[in-house]
Amino acid sequence: MIFDLAVIGGGILGLAHAMAAARLGKRVIVIERDAAANGASIRNFGFITVSGQARGATWRRARRSREIWAAIAPQAGIDITQRGLLVSLRFDESLPVAEAFLKTEMGEGCALLSRDECVRRAPGLAGAVLKGALWSPHEVRVESRQAIPRLAAWLAAAHGVTFQTGTAVLSVAPPLIETSRGPIHAAAAVVCPGDDFVSLFPEAIAARGVDKSTLTMLRLADPGLRLPATLMSDLGLIRYLGYSALPAAAPLRARLEHTHAEALEHGVHLIVAQGADGQLIVGDSHHYGDRPDPFMNARVEALILAEFAAATGLTPPPVVSRWVGSYAHAQDSPMFVAAPRDQVRLVMITSGTGASTSFAIAEEVIGELFGESVAAVPITGT
Ligand SMILES: Cc1cc2nc3c(=O)[nH]c(=O)nc-3n(C[C@H](O)[C@H](O)[C@H](O)COP(=O)(O)OP(=O)(O)OC[C@H]3O[C@@H](n4cnc5c(N)ncnc54)[C@H](O)[C@@H]3O)c2cc1C
Repeated sequence: MIFDLAVIGGGILGLAHAMAAARLGKRVIVIERDAAANGASIRNFGFITVSGQARGATWRRARRSREIWAAIAPQAGIDITQRGLLVSLRFDESLPVAEAFLKTEMGEGCALLSRDECVRRAPGLAGAVLKGALWSPHEVRVESRQAIPRLAAWLAAAHGVTFQTGTAVLSVAPPLIETSRGPIHAAAAVVCPGDDFVSLFPEAIAARGVDKSTLTMLRLADPGLRLPATLMSDLGLIRYLGYSALPAAAPLRARLEHTHAEALEHGVHLIVAQGADGQLIVGDSHHYGDRPDPFMNARVEALILAEFAAATGLTPPPVVSRWVGSYAHAQDSPMFVAAPRDQVRLVMITSGTGASTSFAIAEEVIGELFGESVAAVPITGT
């Protein structure tokens, strides 16, 4: 059989491209090296972040991707475990950042909550530590460990996408895709290799100045309270470009460089997501380089838990599990698309935004590759 499209990589970006092509009625095969996707796409928070994404293309793609997550979740049996974002604010310098954000186009639908309103929405958070909170209604949160396999199963069942797992792709030159299990034939290919920079088109990847960002993640026991939304702290206001690029962020950055130097040195900021079972997914830290350290640093864990305690006023519940994850990172660009060969696109997200932007990126790439508009096609199975 000759497929219209071979997608290499079964992470969220590969699945998003498979879905976009299937919406156009293309015959699609996804080829994944592992038995199931096991990389960044299942290790993340599952937090589809809109507010805080870099102004312009990334923010626009996050809004579109969020729409697509919301449309497919019920069809694919994916639970939305939280909606919205609460950025708890405890420093005087944080309030002007939130106010400046609200004045931009990105602030539409968002609001600055008073301390009382914040505690009313999130009983259990210690109001004493808060000056208020920035509320955004745009986000959804999924449990990636569940969502990625369910998305793959739905693409197979409802869209007729073929999956070949346990298969490493060795070379891509349509119509011939050479794999560790023999040749596959496809008229076009999209390569979504995540943080594998060496197997396919290494020169094209090296030309983008890409390295890896390694993150530390924790799962904490159910604290006995329900968060109304995914939570971030003040530290996020100087990390997420939608806030940090605002001039109002400069005084907060200066303050945190003084008071939180060690946390910033390890790229620590706080996201707290809550699963349906009440457990908290808490992180993270960022260490950059081409060789991710597989050994978790206990000091980094302590810094993350200290930020959790400071932002919520809660004693951190016991740690249930720990893991590291890594993603491709480039200093100047959140993603890139290259055309290393005719009918081949290499797509790489080079920032921590893949859960939030992949669906929109895939609509653009597949639309360009096949010369048809994907966004015009409804998102339903056959
Ligand atoms: C800890 C952590 C937290 C994060 N939190 C968030 C978040 O909350 N929100 C958000 O938007 N983003 C988040 N991100 C970023 C997001 O997870 C990534 O941007 C996204 O998962 C990248 O998806 P991908 O499909 O490109 O890569 P991956 O998930 O790494 O998938 C790539 C796949 O390609 C396969 N592959 C590679 N080469 C070959 C080959 N030659 N042959 C066959 N298969 C191959 C690999 O086996 C792998 O399964 C986080 C990342 C991490 C690590």
